[in-house]
Amino acid sequence: MKAELVSVGTELLLGEITDTNAVYLSQHLAEIGVDVFFRHTVGDNLQRIVSVFELALSRSDVIIICGGLGPTQDDLTREAIAKVTGRPLNVDPAAEKHLREFFAARNRVPTPSNIKQASVPEGGQLLDNTCGTAPGVLVEYEGKALIAVPGPPPEMREMFQLQVLPWLLRKQGGYATMLRSRMLRLADIGESNLVDLIPDILDAQDTTTVAPYASPGEVKLRIATKAASEDEATEALDEMEARLRERIGPHIYGIDDEIMEVAVGRLLAERGATLATAESCTGGMIASRVTDVPGASEYFLGGIVAYSNEIKQQLLGVPEQTLIDHGAVSEECARAMAEGARAAHGADWAVATTGIAGPGGGSEDKPVGLVYIAVADAEGSVCLMGNWPGTRDQFKARVSQYALNMLRKRILGMEIEGTL
Ligand code: AMP
Ligand code: MG
Repeated sequence: MKAELVSVGTELLLGEITDTNAVYLSQHLAEIGVDVFFRHTVGDNLQRIVSVFELALSRSDVIIICGGLGPTQDDLTREAIAKVTGRPLNVDPAAEKHLREFFAARNRVPTPSNIKQASVPEGGQLLDNTCGTAPGVLVEYEGKALIAVPGPPPEMREMFQLQVLPWLLRKQGGYATMLRSRMLRLADIGESNLVDLIPDILDAQDTTTVAPYASPGEVKLRIATKAASEDEATEALDEMEARLRERIGPHIYGIDDEIMEVAVGRLLAERGATLATAESCTGGMIASRVTDVPGASEYFLGGIVAYSNEIKQQLLGVPEQTLIDHGAVSEECARAMAEGARAAHGADWAVATTGIAGPGGGSEDKPVGLVYIAVADAEGSVCLMGNWPGTRDQFKARVSQYALNMLRKRILGMEIEGTL
């Protein structure tokens, strides 16, 4: 089955909003083996929408349209479907009743333009909208189908999952070849080193493929496979993951959604251990990431954003002499911050960062990008130095990632040495 996607909305063409719906639809269609060869974005103009539909109908089996189902003048998707199929638009009595009830429940009365949302091209069907007012539209036409879903992403996703997906699966007689993937998240390895460790696996063009993805502080490997069933897909992914673990096992810290803060949180929770942070150059990003994880209160006690020397001294107990002798961006200061945060919070673990994010503030012996990360526990502290010049965003993202990774390794009793 070949599908073609049409996103309707002038705001998309103006670049005011990002077409996240198309991304979502592409991903989920690929998962059930529906091919998407073309995607369009078209403004709120009847003629242009109709011309896109004509083109799409000329070469694809299913046209999935999102947006333009609202009540206003510029919501033209329904009219365009009616026009391209030559079917008149009629108000559906059940949908009108549902719409009136929806408004009544909110102490409002629908206007004629609201009622327009209950209309459907003759021979078509409306798709219930369980979280908004605009029903979807499904019209079968000359062996093909036009399916329109609402623009607001939550409504689109709900309707796609509950109604469009089952319809597509029925039509194609179940899953065709399905695409399944798994993301392995790696730490302590750069993309080029990784590529050198598994060149044969990356080069193989099999039904199961492995591709690297790099972002600041993290490299990921995506395993993707095409299979005829869910079980077959899982088996292929498991097999490839096992092969990769043989080569690069110690670098794999998480799978799919298990990002670094989740992995660290799980380790702390399993041990009933607590964490505190002392952040200078990351400005609270580590604490923020740790608290992004539901249940963080179980192990995260608190953190101090110690940006100035005074705060490092007063709240973390960094000795004045340390700052005079070594400066704030130094191993000595980072260790004192971590140990001070651990003591101040009464935590089992503490992590501290101090560095020069740039673009200003660097010097010959302390260049932009220099950073010290320390982790303290009952046995004292460990500290590593790193140097990653880049934008402030990249710098903070990297430092927070490496700090959490250092904590993770320390909790697991792994060796911490060298530079970051
Ligand atoms: P519409 O159904 O065209 O009235 O769209 C309603 C709202 O849904 C728009 O204002 C956007 O905020 C959102 N929206 C519409 N199309 C998309 C899309 N393709 N991707 C993400 N959001 C969208
Ligand atoms: Mg619109």
